[in-house]
Amino acid sequence: MGGGASGLMAGAVASARGLSVLIVDKNKTPGQKLKITGGGRCNITNNEPDIHKLLKIYGEGAPYLYSPFSVFGVRDTFKYFESRGLPLVTQARNRVFPVTEKAEDVFNILHKELIKNKAVMMNSCVVSKINHHEEKIISIDTNQGKFFAKSFVLATGGMSHPETGSTGDGFKFLKELGHTVSNPTPDIVPIAIKEDWVKGLAGVSLSFMKITFYLDNLKQFSKKGKILFTHFGLSGPLILNSAKSIKALLDKGEVMATIDLYPDTTLGDVEKKIIKIFDQNKNKILKTVIKEIVPEGMSQSFQEIINFIYLDTKVHSIKKEERRKIVDLLKALPITVEGLMGLDRAVVVDGGVELSEIDMKKMSSKKFSNLYITGDLLHLNRNSGGYSLQICWTTGYIAGMSV
Ligand SMILES: Cc1cc2nc3c(=O)[nH]c(=O)nc-3n(C[C@H](O)[C@H](O)[C@H](O)COP(=O)(O)OP(=O)(O)OC[C@H]3O[C@@H](n4cnc5c(N)ncnc54)[C@H](O)[C@@H]3O)c2cc1C
Repeated sequence: MGGGASGLMAGAVASARGLSVLIVDKNKTPGQKLKITGGGRCNITNNEPDIHKLLKIYGEGAPYLYSPFSVFGVRDTFKYFESRGLPLVTQARNRVFPVTEKAEDVFNILHKELIKNKAVMMNSCVVSKINHHEEKIISIDTNQGKFFAKSFVLATGGMSHPETGSTGDGFKFLKELGHTVSNPTPDIVPIAIKEDWVKGLAGVSLSFMKITFYLDNLKQFSKKGKILFTHFGLSGPLILNSAKSIKALLDKGEVMATIDLYPDTTLGDVEKKIIKIFDQNKNKILKTVIKEIVPEGMSQSFQEIINFIYLDTKVHSIKKEERRKIVDLLKALPITVEGLMGLDRAVVVDGGVELSEIDMKKMSSKKFSNLYITGDLLHLNRNSGGYSLQICWTTGYIAGMSV
């Protein structure tokens, strides 16, 4: 049930064993979410072959994952895809992508494998109920009829980006079957910002910025990295991976942040730099010089921010205090955090079936031995960086080998 990353993997592995496999998906074409991963480039895994370091990423889920990763870990992901003609490359922060940087190619590898192994794929097929008799799953009801099988893999995904088909149906089925399912909340998700100038920067991405968060004006934590501006606020790996901590702050009070546009330069050195640029352009008007002092793409918005100076002022007549104010803003641009975006914008949603109710050696339910549960349906916290798809490959592989 579900032709997403983990369902396709489970189907590919089971069909390669010669089993007869049917994959039903509610969408017209499967793998919709997989095809948008990593902004269409698919961050397929994280190149952390040391299992102990890898486990640390998954917090409380770590003790449950040692056995699955020992069976199918990061190296196995490389081997699986590369041996089938999809070379992978490791980029910044150990994130791994197909060399082609096309998520579609990852889907195609699994799809080809399924076709080769004569698996059947049924699209626009919506599962509505999982039927059981005592501790065995017997059949599933769908809009295209009832299907019987020896084993059932539930891989209907979580609740992020529901337009991809992942609408949380699996959580409902699991609850009906008596499993404990914690409620989905956005976990890795962009943040909404109040200031309009932020929205004016939609599409601009700033590498190597530092952002510092404050709770009721008290400094809490800082992070350095890439920030992506969107039409509702901020996104990008740095923001996404801070979402959980930001959420905890928002529960306590008012959250502000400052963006340091020159994170590796001291305030004094930024001031010297600005003085030099102003000296070289002293007869120009401020408006035309701004693009020399802010990162590319930010010039228009910065003009709105420094509304305390007339933009047509000749640079030589800018007062020292005004210049100082500009420097202060370059080092700490204030923004107001309104909240986290919702499930529809989340990359990863917290929540899912408790791992203590799963036999992690088989990925099977401890309540129904012929029901296998994979991917985003599992209650696992992790950062962005390829760690979610690695869970899909690992759990999909184990389910495919166990059915
Ligand atoms: C925008 C975005 C970018 C991401 N980028 C990355 C990344 O680069 N790297 C990374 O590691 N992770 C990334 N993730 C997370 C990753 O995509 C998920 O962890 C992964 O896709 C989950 O796979 P899955 O098999 O659990 O389910 P899904 O991929 O969600 O697939 C579930 C499938 O089940 C089908 N389905 C649902 N209900 C039913 C039903 N009732 N009947 C029949 N079919 C049903 C759906 O149509 C869907 O095709 C990203 C997520 C998002 C939203």
